[in-house]
Amino acid sequence: MKIISKSIYVIFVSIAFASSAFAAVNPLERLLAGNKRFVAGAPARKEIGEKRRRELARGQHPFAIVFSCSDSSVPPEMIFDQGLGDLFVIRDAGNVADPVVIGSIEYAVEHLHVPLLVVLGHSGCGAVKATLEARKRPAGNFGSITDEILPAVVEARKSHKKDILNEAVQDNVKNTCSEIVRRSRIIQELVSKGRFSIVAAEYYSDTGKVEPVPSGPRVPPGK
Ligand SMILES: [Zn+2]
Repeated sequence: MKIISKSIYVIFVSIAFASSAFAAVNPLERLLAGNKRFVAGAPARKEIGEKRRRELARGQHPFAIVFSCSDSSVPPEMIFDQGLGDLFVIRDAGNVADPVVIGSIEYAVEHLHVPLLVVLGHSGCGAVKATLEARKRPAGNFGSITDEILPAVVEARKSHKKDILNEAVQDNVKNTCSEIVRRSRIIQELVSKGRFSIVAAEYYSDTGKVEPVPSGPRVPPGK
């Protein structure tokens, strides 16, 4: 993990959360408004019938990419109260980025012109918890996931925060954002041109709220 990519990550998050100039059509605002409806238990009426399906058969135009954990309690369309065709969703346990995930993001950006990616961790993430508690690399393919989460766990332990699990969840989201940028020249270029934003966020299952992950360099200077 390069320090430069973490700096890039901080800039992205700052841009995405500080910008209100285009709030009326800002996809992030649209997502957060949907999350407010979800929290309030007042979902919007959605067209999910034949008419909408026929529209989507002619082509999809999702307004945001959400890359979240596969955890059954974190379905993006529900927690952001969105309908058919609104979100381009990518999920895996622990929301860790590999070439297939990054390729999916590149597809959505290049072919569907989606302007926003939200990387969404969540409270009590089982994949992060399993990495935190593992005494050795898990057998089977799950080890590929814990390998990706491990740097966040190491970082969280160093922080000596009381809630190590939540610290690791947030570090893992930040790492994923950084890795997506570091491993994709296509995404780097679009971000530098101001055509694509990446936001790190966490879903809290007790409140139902999605909150931005606090930004800031996590690697001590000189590392
Ligand atoms: Zn999870």
